[in-house]
Amino acid sequence: MAKFHLKLAHLYGDLLNTYSDIGNIIALQYYGKIMDAEIESRVISIDNQFDPDAFDMALFGGGQDYEQLVVSRDLPNKKAALTKFINEGKPLLAICGGYQLLGKYYIGANGEKIPGLGILNHYTLSQDNNRFIGDIAIKNEETGEEYHGFENHNGRTFLGDGERPLGKVVTGHGNNGEDGTEGAIYKATYCSYFHGPILTRNGEIAKHLLLIALHNKYPDADLSRQEALKIAPTF
Ligand code: GLN
Repeated sequence: MAKFHLKLAHLYGDLLNTYSDIGNIIALQYYGKIMDAEIESRVISIDNQFDPDAFDMALFGGGQDYEQLVVSRDLPNKKAALTKFINEGKPLLAICGGYQLLGKYYIGANGEKIPGLGILNHYTLSQDNNRFIGDIAIKNEETGEEYHGFENHNGRTFLGDGERPLGKVVTGHGNNGEDGTEGAIYKATYCSYFHGPILTRNGEIAKHLLLIALHNKYPDADLSRQEALKIAPTF
């Protein structure tokens, strides 16, 4: 029996799962096990109620424009709950399409404007007859950590108030191919264009998200062993 239990909402996990974004949950479960934390995951999709108090973490994956459009129609039903979840500082990992949908709007490859949740202040434009595809490396300037992944997106995202990038582009395109930023951080919401999935290749982010969730849920627990595992070079 694990000492800690965390509940994860896999938002629209049946529709948004490009390049197996679900692998991020497997990575969280792997690192969670070492931290003595069991992660229980549940898909919350179209027409399912999202109770922000019932979950400690969330994953919002990427998708094709068509699936994003379908999801966008359901988002107003979950906006209040997701706003509470995010603003309470619960960890949420949003990848590519999920990242775009947390922002104000997203222009699809065919020019259609898809409204987002507007909880984060970025917006996403399209580009003509081009996609940003390939390996990407970025550096997080706060931690000095370098992250590696694979990007494949038409959208060009521009950050807004209250957001800082996940990292500066070392190689690849990043948010928009112009300003050298990749991804976004707002409170404990981490956004990125990295598929691959991001947490299997960049365990530091998985450990970081788990520690935030554990501190939130177990404020009185001694988490020194878990903290030590975060900086352990290998596991
Ligand atoms: N449909 C979006 C785009 O092309 C997101 C793609 C994805 O999630 N990989 O920009």
